[in-house]
Amino acid sequence: MAKSEKDTAAAQGARNGKRLRSGMLRAFVGQEGADVVAPAPPLPVKEIFKEFWPYMRPYRRYLVGLLLLLLLLPLLDGARLYMIKVTVDEVLIPGDLDPFLWIAPIVLGVTILSGAFGYLQSYLVSWVGGRFLLALRTRFFSHLQNLSLSFFEQRSLGDILARLTGDVAAIEAFVVSGLVAAASSVAQLVIFGGALIFLDWRLFIFILVVGPLFAGLVRVLSRLIKRASRETRRRTGAMTAFAEEALGNQSLVQGYNRQKLEIDRFHRENVGQFEAQMLSARARSLFAPATDLIQAVSGLVVLGVGAVAVKNGDLSVGALLVTIAFLQRLYGPMRTLARLYNVIYAASAGAERVIEYLREVPAVTDSRDAKPIGRARGKVEFEDVEFAYPGSDEKALDGISFRADPGQTVALVGHSGAGKSTIARLMLRFHDPIAGHVRIDGVDLKDITVSSLRDNMALLLQETLMFDGTIRENIAYGRPAATDEEIVAAAEAADAHEFIDELEGGYDAEVGQRGRRLSGGQRQRVAIARAMIRDAPILILDEPTTGLDAESSHKILEPLRRLMSSHTTIVISHELLTVREADVILVLDHGKIIERGSHDELMARNGAYTRFVRLQVGAREAREAFSGA
Ligand code: ADP
Repeated sequence: MAKSEKDTAAAQGARNGKRLRSGMLRAFVGQEGADVVAPAPPLPVKEIFKEFWPYMRPYRRYLVGLLLLLLLLPLLDGARLYMIKVTVDEVLIPGDLDPFLWIAPIVLGVTILSGAFGYLQSYLVSWVGGRFLLALRTRFFSHLQNLSLSFFEQRSLGDILARLTGDVAAIEAFVVSGLVAAASSVAQLVIFGGALIFLDWRLFIFILVVGPLFAGLVRVLSRLIKRASRETRRRTGAMTAFAEEALGNQSLVQGYNRQKLEIDRFHRENVGQFEAQMLSARARSLFAPATDLIQAVSGLVVLGVGAVAVKNGDLSVGALLVTIAFLQRLYGPMRTLARLYNVIYAASAGAERVIEYLREVPAVTDSRDAKPIGRARGKVEFEDVEFAYPGSDEKALDGISFRADPGQTVALVGHSGAGKSTIARLMLRFHDPIAGHVRIDGVDLKDITVSSLRDNMALLLQETLMFDGTIRENIAYGRPAATDEEIVAAAEAADAHEFIDELEGGYDAEVGQRGRRLSGGQRQRVAIARAMIRDAPILILDEPTTGLDAESSHKILEPLRRLMSSHTTIVISHELLTVREADVILVLDHGKIIERGSHDELMARNGAYTRFVRLQVGAREAREAFSGA
C-alpha cells in the first residue's frame, strides 16, 4: 500500500479520535454523526501472518502432528474409494461374491481408522486454536494495560472491547483454523489428483481446465468480500462503542428523555453493519451456484470422455466410477480453498484492527538503565518542567519548579484548566515532561522503573474508582498482601469502620459496579483506607472532596488529615481546610506558578490566592446559610 494512503488513514484515525470524545454530546444535540470508529489502516495478508505467527510457536509440535493427520486422512479416504473399483471390477461384474469377504473388513477397518484420525484432527485444531486465542488475547489485554491514559481518552471503550473480543477471535480463523484447512485441502488435492493420474492421466487434464476457472471466480468475489468485511468489522466496533456510551450514560439519557434519539442512533449504526454484512453475503451467495455450474459442466465432460473410453475398452467400469468419485473429491478442497481465500480476507479485516492497537507504543516506558528505587523517603522535586499534551500546541505546564521535603504537603490551587492535574499526572509518570526534570529523592523519574515509582505512590482521586467486589477487596487493592487486621486498622483510620460494620456483610459486603451501593462520602472513605493501607511515602490527592455535600466532605477531612500527616502530599483542592495547612501553596494559572507561599504569606499579599479564599469562604457561607434556612 502506498505510504500516503497509510498516512491519510492514520490522520483520519487521529481526527476521529478527537471527534469521538464529543460523540455522546453530538448525539445528544442531535447532529448527524460522523463515523464513530475510524477504519484501521489496511495491511497485506503476508504481514498480518508474520505478526501473529510467533503466537503459534509454542504449538509447532502439535502442528506437525496435525500435518501428519492431514496427509493420512485423504490417503485413507482414497483407499476406501479405491475399494469401490475393486468391488465393481472383482465382485459385481464377474458376479463373484468371494472377494467381498476380504473387501468388507478392509473397508470397515479403513473407515474406523479414518474416523479416529478425523476425531483427533478436529480436536487438535480446536485445542491449538483455543490456546493461540488465549495467548493472543491475554497479550493484547496486557499491551492495552500499558498504553498511556491519553490513548484511552481518545478512543471509545466499546470499540476497544470489540477488538478485544470479536476481532481477536477472527485472527484465529485466519492463523490456525485457516492454515490447517488450507494445508488439508492442498493435501487432498495432491493425493486425489495423484490418484487420478495413476488411474488415467487423460482425465487429469480436466483439473487443468477446472482449476483456473475456480481461481478466476474466487479472485473476482474475494475483492468484494474483502471490502465488505472491513466495513463489517468497523461497523461492529462502532456499534459497541455507541452502545457502551449510551448505556453508560443512562442517567443523562433518561433524565433528558432522549431515549428515542439514542435508539435511532443505535439503529442507524446497526443498519450500517447490516448493509455491510449483506454486501459480503451477496458475494458469498453467488459463489455456490457459480461453482455448481462449473462442477456440473466438468462432470458431464468427464462422463462423456469416460463413456467413450469404456466403450473402446480402454477403461473398466469400476475405474470410471472411481475416477468420478475421485473427481467429486477434488471439488471439496477446491471449494474450501476458495472459501478460505475469502475467510482469510474477512479475518484480516479484524486482524488489521488488532494490529493497529498492538503497534501503539506506550507513551512512557522504562529506559534501558532504569533502576527500581525501592522505598523512597519521599522528597519530590519539579525543576523547570514544561509539558504539552500530544497534539496540542499549548503548553499545559510552563517552567514549573517546586520542592516538597519528606512529609511536607504542597497544595495546588487555580482555575480549572490551570494545569493542576497535569502536575499530578507527571508525578505518576503518565506522561514525561518535554523539558525539565521531575525527581523523587533526587533521582529523575526517567531513571526509575515505572512500576517501582508507582509502588511509592498512593492516590486519591476526585472520582472514586471502585471495582465490583467486596469492601475488603477494594481496600486491599492498595496492597494485595494486607492482612485482615491491617484492613480493619486502615478502615478505622479512615473513619470507615463504623459504617462498614453496619453494612449487611460488613467487610464482605459487595459494593456493586463502580461502588454504586455506597454513598459518595462512603466511597471516598473506603478510598482513603485504600490509600492508608498502601503505606507509600508519596500521596497524590486530586480534589478528594469534590462532588461531596458539605457534611460528607467534612466527615472525610479528619481522616484525610491523618493520611496527609504521614505522607509527602501533593494535594489539588478547592476545599480551603485542606489547603490552608499545606507547607507550600502554589497558585497556578495557564500552566505557570503565579504565587507561592504559606497561607498566611499569601493572604498578606492580597493577590490571586486571597481572591480564591474569598470565593471559597463566600461559597461556604452561602452553603451554610442555605442549609440553616
Ligand atoms: P486542572 O487540573 O488545573 O483543571 P489540567 O491539568 O487538567 O488542569 O489541564 C491543563 C491543560 O491541559 C488544560 O488546558 C487542558 O485543556 C489540557 N489538557 C488536560 N488533559 C488533557 C488531555 N488528556 N489531552 C489534551 N489536553 C489536555
